[in-house]
Order: sequence, then structure tokens, then C-alpha cells
Amino acid sequence: MTIQLPFDNSYARLPDRFHARVTPTSVGTPRLIRVNAELARHLGLDPEWLAGPGGVEVLAGRLVPNEADPVAMAYAGHQFGQFVPQLGDGRAILLGEIIDKDGTRRDLQLKGSGRTPFSRGGDGRAALGPILREYIVSEAMAALGIPTTRSLAAVATGEQVVRERMLPGAVLARVATSHVRIGTFQYFAARGDVEGLRTLADYVIHRHYPEVAGAKRPYLELLDRVVTRQAELVAKWLLVGFIHGVMNTDNVSIVGETIDYGPCAFMDAYDPATVFSSIDRQGRYAYGRQPGIAEWNLTRLAETLLPLIAEQQEEAVVQAQAVLAAFAPRFETAFHGGLARKLGLSSLVAEDVALAGDLLKAMAENRADFTLTFRRLCDAAEGPEGDAAVRALFDDPAAYERWAVRWRQRLQAEPRDAGARRDAMRAVNPAFIPRNHRTEAVIDAAVERDDFSAFDELMAVLARPYEDQPEYARYANPPEPHEQVSQTFCGT
Ligand code: AMP
Ligand code: MG
Repeated sequence: MTIQLPFDNSYARLPDRFHARVTPTSVGTPRLIRVNAELARHLGLDPEWLAGPGGVEVLAGRLVPNEADPVAMAYAGHQFGQFVPQLGDGRAILLGEIIDKDGTRRDLQLKGSGRTPFSRGGDGRAALGPILREYIVSEAMAALGIPTTRSLAAVATGEQVVRERMLPGAVLARVATSHVRIGTFQYFAARGDVEGLRTLADYVIHRHYPEVAGAKRPYLELLDRVVTRQAELVAKWLLVGFIHGVMNTDNVSIVGETIDYGPCAFMDAYDPATVFSSIDRQGRYAYGRQPGIAEWNLTRLAETLLPLIAEQQEEAVVQAQAVLAAFAPRFETAFHGGLARKLGLSSLVAEDVALAGDLLKAMAENRADFTLTFRRLCDAAEGPEGDAAVRALFDDPAAYERWAVRWRQRLQAEPRDAGARRDAMRAVNPAFIPRNHRTEAVIDAAVERDDFSAFDELMAVLARPYEDQPEYARYANPPEPHEQVSQTFCGT
């Protein structure tokens, strides 16, 4: 059989201590759940082949293509603030890299394909539920225009995995611009391996940030670029109500893609203190804490880079601090700019930050649904006829009315006509997000009844988040009280 996977594996060519060579452990009788045909084509892969028997064998980790050179990547990480010097891919393997249609090198990873030398006590497997959650949310994020790892395919393994109970197993084929994390840098820093650190930093610069290669201080410039990407990423999360849930440094991508959809969730009613993850008891990774945590994580990255930045540590610290100081203003620029667009303002004047902040405050006090409030504001921006639908989302409708008076005044200073403003707002305020109760219902149907029709339908709706889809209007609704999801669980 010819296997059409044009791999080229630059990470596997790095020194031995960067990874462990592994072979996926073959599983029972795999069955395709879904292939992302559009993404497959973008990678130059034939979706029909991937969905066929040969493709499924590869996706399930039963057949390793000749050109693949599978490795499990070594990394460390701060988990909930505690440093763990060795984590690594315990249930994932990097099959190889493929150059996509844009000329960008992409990692293809199998998640849930068996044990590796980094598995510690784990079984290296993944249960179907978390695989579907990652598939749904990562693809929804991509459709929303938020940098993310992608889901190329999911297969059921035909084997059971042991969790609190027996559950069907699955493997996700994940595509990322990079699987290097802040924790990868920490792995070498923790060992005092400055040579390894330099090799890693040079690899990341060469592959992901070639524009800094010739700079006077390339490693400082690298830090600067990562700071910008993280600031912009977290701003985008906040603007759609996304809560990552497990922002450990091993889950922070060096290229600023959202990675690791474990206990992630979308907020329904707006409340910055919202936490869903069952293991986040202190609320460390609450919605509103995400910018501060991103900055904390970047500080950990900066610490690892100190020996590369300058010979004198004091000098390196001063330089790194100056770069880290840019996080807060860059985040604010991205976040405030995004809020202005959500409110239909084509430019940001000083008072707009207070205007947006007061809306958020009123939403929090009145348990207004985050996504629906902004989506309905798009119609209200055309005229007060649209107000009733927004008002209905607030416990005390007068709180919205008071705010809307100020907003309308501000809109009068806008150059655009009302129709153009509405269209621009609809392009940034989604109607459809992967609401937790929908995601849970899909997982439940698949796990308990082997029924994937709800999954397919949800994927179709989420592929066009900014369009009204009248036939699927119900997917825009927040959960009924009995549908509310209060906790999410790590995808192990
Ligand atoms: P995560 O919470 O998904 O970021 O994973 C943290 C660490 O635990 C990583 O090193 C994973 O590879 C490892 N891990 C998670 N689940 C498993 C599993 N089922 N088997 C082996 N290792 C795992
Ligand atoms: Mg992880």
C-alpha cells in the first residue's frame, strides 16, 4: 500500500535529548469518526484516502508511514504554579511535519495513541469524550478566527479505556504550527542545559520567527514576539468568552495558538470570576484572570532565556523585564480595540474604554448572556427597535437602558451609516459558540449511544459562527436552568 503522507521531520532531527523515539501502540478495530476534509486538502492530503481503510490505520496509530519518524517531545511545566521538571508527551506522539499549501510547516500529532517514555503512571490513551470536546472547540475557535491547533481527524479505537469507569477510547489527529511550549524551554533550563536551550531557541526562530534571526538581540526579539502573540491571543479569548481552564506553562504554545482543550469552556452569563474546571479550586484560571496568568507564564519563559540574552545575568534581567513590560499595554490595545469593534465603534476614543467597561459591569450585575448581548447589540445599533431583545437579557432591564443612552450618543459621532455598522458588528460578534451544554449533549450521545448525529450537526453550525442560521437558531440560546453545565473535567 502506498501511503501518501509527505512528511519532513525537522524536530526529530534535533538532538536525542529533545524527544524519545516511539511507535504508536496498535489498537483494536479502529473506526473513523470524522475527517476534516478542508484541512486535509490544505495539508495536501487526500481526504478520501484518509477516510479509507489505509488512512484510518494511520490515524489510529496502527500503521506508521515510512516517511514518519514518530517522537514524543520532552517538556516540563508549571502546573497550577508548581514546577514539574519533566512532563513530556505522555499520550501523544508527533508523527511528523507536513508543509501545507501556504508553505507553512505543520506538525501532525496523534493524541491517545499509546504509552511513551513520558507517560509516568498514565495509559497513554484518551477517552472519546475529551477527543470530541477538543475536536469541537478547536474547530469552533478556528472558525471564529482565533489562532488554534486544529483537528484533522478523530477515530474510535474500538478499545475501552479505564477511567472512573470504562469508556470508549479514541485518537485525535491534531495539527499545530508548533508543539513547542513554554514548558519545552523550561525543560532545558531546569537541567542547566544552555546548549540545548540555544538549540531550541534557534530552532524556534528559524521555523517560526525567521524575521528575528538577523537581529542584534535575537533571543530578546524572540521573547518580544511571543509576548505579542500571547497578548493578542488572550484578548481574543476574552472577546468571545472563552476560558482555557488549564493555562499551565506546558499548555502555552510558543507560536500563540490555543492548545490543550482539556477543561475549557465558554461563558454563558457574563461573570469575570467564572471557572468551570473541576481541578481549579482556587480559580487561578478564571476567565478574568487569564491576562495576568499569561503574563506570569511569559515571565517563566523569560527566565529560561536569560542565559541567552546577555552574559551578565543582571543585564539580561533588565532587558527581559523591559520586554515583559510590553505585555500589559499590548493586551489592553488588543482587548480595548476588540471591545470597540464589538460595540460598532470604528475608532477608540478615551471615553470608550469606560463605556465598554460599564456595559460589562452591567452585564455581570444582571447575569446577561455574553454572546447574545453582543449579537443582539448588532441589531440595536441600527436603531432603538432592537433594544427590546437586548433588554430582555438583563435581570434589571433598566441597567441596559441607562447604558444604551450613552452608547447611542457615542454612535452619533461615528462616520459609518447604521447598516454598515451593523454588518461590521455581525462580523465580530458571533451568534454561535460551542456552548457547554451542547458540547456535553454531543459527548453524551456519542459515548452512551454511539450516536454521532448531534456531533455532525453541531460541527456544521459552528463552522459559520457569524452567520444567522435560522434553521439552527436554537443553538444560539443559552442553556435552560436544567441544562446548565457547572463543571468540566480534564481530558485525561
Ligand atoms: P495535560 O493536563 O493534558 O496538559 O497533561 C499534562 C501531562 O500529563 C502531560 O505530560 C501529558 O502527556 C500527561 N498525560 C495526561 N494524560 C495522560 C495519559 N492518559 N497517559 C499518559 N500521560 C498523560
Ligand atoms: Mg497539556
